[in-house]
Amino acid sequence: MKKLSYCVDCKRIASFAGECTYCQSQNIKQLTRKTPVNVIGTKIKGRVLNVKDQMVEILYIDENKNTFVKPFEAEKLKKVL
Ligand SMILES: [Zn+2]
Repeated sequence: MKKLSYCVDCKRIASFAGECTYCQSQNIKQLTRKTPVNVIGTKIKGRVLNVKDQMVEILYIDENKNTFVKPFEAEKLKKVL
């Protein structure tokens, strides 16, 4: 199983092989549980619960305080601070 990483410079998430395929940075770190992420183009912000292949399960709370656990494709996610 491939492990997912994130790029420290552009924050994109993928199974990079030593180099970011978005910005060519070599500043790559492993994506671990509880890493805060944003779903690109949405207001969804949550934390990594599980990683399975190219899917990342995110735990997030919406504006009505409902908790959701939902899988998203790694390419739709960005690491946040
Ligand atoms: Zn990058």
